Amino acid sequence: MNFAFIFAKELIMDDDIICERALKCPIYSGILASNEVLIQTYKNLYCDAGKHGRDKCKRYQVALLVGKCPPDILPNSNLSVEDIIRNMEQ
Ligand code: SF4
Repeated sequence: MNFAFIFAKELIMDDDIICERALKCPIYSGILASNEVLIQTYKNLYCDAGKHGRDKCKRYQVALLVGKCPPDILPNSNLSVEDIIRNMEQ
């Protein structure tokens, strides 16, 4: 294991730079795969931006409250967290 790998791993683990939901998130892993620029923008603003980034993400906020989020909700959805959850219950 080289120094760069150890440093990167600790950076991720200690500061949670990458959202812990990234591996299972359809946004992070490719639902918008046809638009690489948009995916990268979302990653920069939300997924790879530490706590500050994911705290702004509607997907993250919804999943934090109810454990999941519909796949079609974007990080910057115009719907409120409450509306998203209400729609899930219908
Ligand atoms: S879109 Fe939101 S929930 Fe998904 S990985 Fe990015 S910050 Fe996390």
